[in-house]
Amino acid sequence: MKQTPVQAILCAFLSLSICFSPKSIPLDQGIPSLSQSVGGSAVSEASEHDSDRDIVFYRKANDNMEIALTFDDGPHPYYTPIILKILEEYGIKATFFMIGENVTYYPAAAEAVLKAGHEIGNHTNHHKGMKSLTDHEIRKEISDCEDVIYSLADYRPTLIRPPEGAMNDQVRRVVGALNYRIILWDVDTHDWAHTPPAEITRHVLKEIDAGDIILMHDFIGHNSPTPEALRMLIPALLERGYKFVTVGELLDET
Ligand SMILES: [Zn+2]
Repeated sequence: MKQTPVQAILCAFLSLSICFSPKSIPLDQGIPSLSQSVGGSAVSEASEHDSDRDIVFYRKANDNMEIALTFDDGPHPYYTPIILKILEEYGIKATFFMIGENVTYYPAAAEAVLKAGHEIGNHTNHHKGMKSLTDHEIRKEISDCEDVIYSLADYRPTLIRPPEGAMNDQVRRVVGALNYRIILWDVDTHDWAHTPPAEITRHVLKEIDAGDIILMHDFIGHNSPTPEALRMLIPALLERGYKFVTVGELLDET
């Protein structure tokens, strides 16, 4: 993903700021290029094989007002339980794309996510940009994360979100061969940039449409706006008739 100078400065600042969090894990940043959208042409052009075309999802339209909340980069020992409590209050299920390394550090938080009935996706073991890795390294990042989750929870994820949404033909090919579906997003809350909760809420309400996948994070280091944003966002979306489902449910809806 090409960054503007402003984004580059912001990323540098974020990298510095998260050094003071319990673990220094890079965050997902920004919306992936729209040219890669499944609905657009780039994926079809980039993928010669039919089998590649159906594995990348930004959203999946439906008539039931269903949308999916997703949380990346956790589990986090403080924020993940807070988010779980909010979701429980509203009876909502979501999808958590976990970093294998963080599952190892904070197994109780990961177990709490599963115990509450949420879906877990693979977010690689170390959150490295996969476009710069070899086939072997991509496979290892994915399988190591999967193994950590399996050893903890007897659960094998079938969905993956590449770190920062970064991917290319090579990543699609390797991930596809591992029978994962690649999940990106249609609405970026920009919580990773410590966007104020009211602004997050305004942005999502403006952008949201049935079938959208919403990007949030349960691991943002300190002063995460995500819990407060959820407390504003969830009731507003429910009031508008939206129903929250996991990504797996959204994709498998017939
Ligand atoms: Zn991430």
